[in-house]
Amino acid sequence: MALHEIGRGPTHAETILRFLEVPARSIRYHYTNIRTKLSKKIEETTNNSVSRCLEVEKLMTRASDDSELVVYDDRGNIGIAAAMDMHWQIRKDSPSGVTYLVGQLSKKVLSRCIYSRSCRLCFEHQKKIQAGKINAEEEVTTHDCKMNYLPSSSSKGMEANAALEICSKLPETSCYLAKLVIDDDTATLSKLREELPTWMKRPVKYADRNHRVRGFRHQVYGLANATAKVSRTTKSHAARLKRNFAYYIGEMINGQHELQEIVRRCYAIVKHMFNEHDDCTTGCPAVQAKAQNKNYSPKKQLL
Ligand SMILES: [Zn+2]
Ligand SMILES: [Zn+2]
Repeated sequence: MALHEIGRGPTHAETILRFLEVPARSIRYHYTNIRTKLSKKIEETTNNSVSRCLEVEKLMTRASDDSELVVYDDRGNIGIAAAMDMHWQIRKDSPSGVTYLVGQLSKKVLSRCIYSRSCRLCFEHQKKIQAGKINAEEEVTTHDCKMNYLPSSSSKGMEANAALEICSKLPETSCYLAKLVIDDDTATLSKLREELPTWMKRPVKYADRNHRVRGFRHQVYGLANATAKVSRTTKSHAARLKRNFAYYIGEMINGQHELQEIVRRCYAIVKHMFNEHDDCTTGCPAVQAKAQNKNYSPKKQLL
């Protein structure tokens, strides 16, 4: 399993066996069988674990004190709150991607969807047909094909498709997605709105904190990288602004605040850097120093 996990099974298996002075030539031929058996077991274990986690999330939702969280649809399926995001193997035009649905209460993986655009055997078969080595009608040898996404389609489109697949399958386990924490990708939400069965309730979108911070970082680092004519923001300013923004978001989520206060305190993100702390929360060292009647001098001067 360790060799399988490393990802270069037969090569490493051979090396280790040679160190042990065991004849290793045949391991390559056995390895595919071992890997297939292992993959099936890993898949089975994952599926069992994921369905157990979904049951835990449903139980926790039912037992929740928050009445807003316990909702049912017309068919008696319980609504769950969860976060969803896709991870790609590589940044652009990735051959595969995996989406996880993570429960808000249990923080466990409730469902996952893997899309793959490539399969070596199918690819080699197509190449042989194109080169005229075999007939076009000839079928590829029977194999455990993992290609479940059109190779010509964009890998970015996988995210919306995976979300739709996950949401459509949830009613099979007597639940549906009531609240969805997701990045600001409109394609996924519009796909869910348009293509989920008409009887299914649509999930309500909630913004993902990390994605919001990342979006803010992108903007401030954009200013830092701009010419001096456009902005005098430096990378150090951008880093501090991003950190203040992350603190602000965290503080506002964790505490119970009125809307007016949330709006007022957002100015602290910039004002804190100018050593003005009237909008800062108790996390700010200047506010802490003031509460203890101590003097405060910032570690870094802005100008
Ligand atoms: Zn295949
Ligand atoms: Zn402050």
